[in-house]
Amino acid sequence: MTLLYEGKAKQLFTTEKDDELRLVYKNDATAFDGEKHDVLEGKGQLNNAISTLFFQVLEAEGVQTHFIKKISDTEQLVRPTQIIPLEVVVRNITAGSLARRLGWEEGQALQDPIVEYYYKDDELGDPLVNDDHIAALQVAKAAELEEMRMRALHVNDILLELCQKANILLVDFKLEFGMQDDGTLILADEVSPDTCRFWDAQTKEKMDKDLYRYGLGSLQSGYENILSRIGGVIHG
Ligand code: UDP
Repeated sequence: MTLLYEGKAKQLFTTEKDDELRLVYKNDATAFDGEKHDVLEGKGQLNNAISTLFFQVLEAEGVQTHFIKKISDTEQLVRPTQIIPLEVVVRNITAGSLARRLGWEEGQALQDPIVEYYYKDDELGDPLVNDDHIAALQVAKAAELEEMRMRALHVNDILLELCQKANILLVDFKLEFGMQDDGTLILADEVSPDTCRFWDAQTKEKMDKDLYRYGLGSLQSGYENILSRIGGVIHG
């Protein structure tokens, strides 16, 4: 089968069906625009399991996504879509680039969620853009952007509730959307500790990719912790 796309953490292959693609979660971990790179045994499996749980919950709540089903430890079947080159970031608690950019202390709860857009362009380092930049770049129409914002906030509400039950703070996360031929938007990519910040609600201990980014501890043990807590809430 043909490799359609290879990213830092995933590969996308065709299947014998036009309306199904095979998404493979790799063990690669990267940070700081690929400056830091390692292969971490078990990471692909953990992200596939966690992302599957999140997509299943989102689908059950009526969010349209590219997810069809998990087919092996490291693989999912997904619907083909035209990825919109924007990273839609939702933030509930200050961290990362928001804290750095505005000189805010990390860990402050935001009164209302903040939605940000980053233009996906490796050479430019994924710059922060606003709605006027997005219109000028012609990556999405105003109505589509508004739709993505509303969907991202809906996803936030669903994930916040799930995380709360799992004793996890959902600090922030990144979503990517795809455009279907009929003009509908669907949630694509992944929802995992590679793309979300998750902290223990009491100790504020980090359980996401920041463990790897900043060398704070074992990525796998953080991801296993997330998986067992979320799995416990869903199946428990
Ligand atoms: N994020 C991501 N991919 C990126 C950039 C950010 O998944 O290319 C996620 C990141 O894991 C975090 C959120 O988006 O959950 C906000 O990231 P931030 O802008 O704070 O960037 P960072 O501090 O990671 O550079």
